[in-house]
Amino acid sequence: MKDKLRRFMMGRYGIDDLGRFLLGMALIILLMSRFFLRTALYAVSLSVLIIVYYRIFSKNINSRYRENQAFLNYKNKLINFIRKQKYIFKQRRIYRIYKCPGCGQKIRIPKGKGRVQITCPKCKTDFIRKS
Ligand SMILES: [Zn+2]
Repeated sequence: MKDKLRRFMMGRYGIDDLGRFLLGMALIILLMSRFFLRTALYAVSLSVLIIVYYRIFSKNINSRYRENQAFLNYKNKLINFIRKQKYIFKQRRIYRIYKCPGCGQKIRIPKGKGRVQITCPKCKTDFIRKS
């Protein structure tokens, strides 16, 4: 039995990150379908499952690999974006960001220091702002 399965899966793509993600989405959508939009969400969940199995049994490994790479790319971009937003949010509490009137360079000044003279590190323009 195990041997039969192994032989069947030979040359087929199998599961990858995109597959696992889609499987998780299918299950979440299936769960949601119990509470609202029953028929529609059930159909969506089933369609996603069909895609997951299609990819697992696919023999076009190159295409499936490319799909997974594209997925990982998007995933990383999203993770980086969230990380960046978190970082900016943290910075906003401690620093105030000003734009240099001379060159547009963003300059970070600690908050709560009163009126300060700022010298742009890029073009050396001086300007005064409240921090
Ligand atoms: Zn400047």
